[in-house]
Amino acid sequence: MEFSERMLVLQVGKFREADLWVRLLSPSRGLIGAFAFGGSRSRRRFAGCLDTFNHISVHVKASPGKQYLALQEGVLIEGVSRLRRDERRFGTAVNCVRFLQSFGIVPEGAEKAHFLMRETLRVLDGCGEVPRLLPVFFRARLAFDQGYALELAHCARCGNALSGKPARLLIRAGRAACPACARASSDYRLPLGPDTVSTLQALHVLPPGDWDGPAVRPAAAGEFAEAVDAFIRYHVGITWEDGRFVRH
Ligand SMILES: [Zn+2]
Repeated sequence: MEFSERMLVLQVGKFREADLWVRLLSPSRGLIGAFAFGGSRSRRRFAGCLDTFNHISVHVKASPGKQYLALQEGVLIEGVSRLRRDERRFGTAVNCVRFLQSFGIVPEGAEKAHFLMRETLRVLDGCGEVPRLLPVFFRARLAFDQGYALELAHCARCGNALSGKPARLLIRAGRAACPACARASSDYRLPLGPDTVSTLQALHVLPPGDWDGPAVRPAAAGEFAEAVDAFIRYHVGITWEDGRFVRH
């Protein structure tokens, strides 16, 4: 088996003297790992390609017994320079990549995950100031895109529109309810201010390049992050423990 594809380089590790082990995000296959034999020396086959967060076009070949994949050659499509020089930008990108790796990306969700990751890296490389909540926006959008969308437009019980009003997130149901209806529910619930509701709605559709606009600006950052992470903990099973994401 062999194929050529445009992929994102998520992680690069050294394996023996001249060889590299690379984690990639493919828009059709999801997360894959491959060797790049001679990758740290071959300028001809991998000129400027095999660095973290690069978007590359690469030719891949399976080993004879299909036990592993090996990169044959690659071309750089888009790199990130500012992101690598800036500790905060780099750390934010690593945080998003680690979450995506803990999440795991199946082929059905690969195209959306690849788009989200690529656009997020573009924002981190090019934006004036990194939005403080960007990693939380990323986690929310990845979960929404991979089949964990939240129903926020109407109350889960009475059906009234929730726009512009305070609400409660019913964690198990993955839906929002007005405060009175939420009190009658046995679900775990968290408060959502009107701007948290509208931000979560916007994050279902807006690409990362539009996350610096007024539609994505929750007044209560703590409340927003708590709602996103509680939802992800319950439905996806990912928690942040000892400085890393763990999927249970
Ligand atoms: Zn209601």
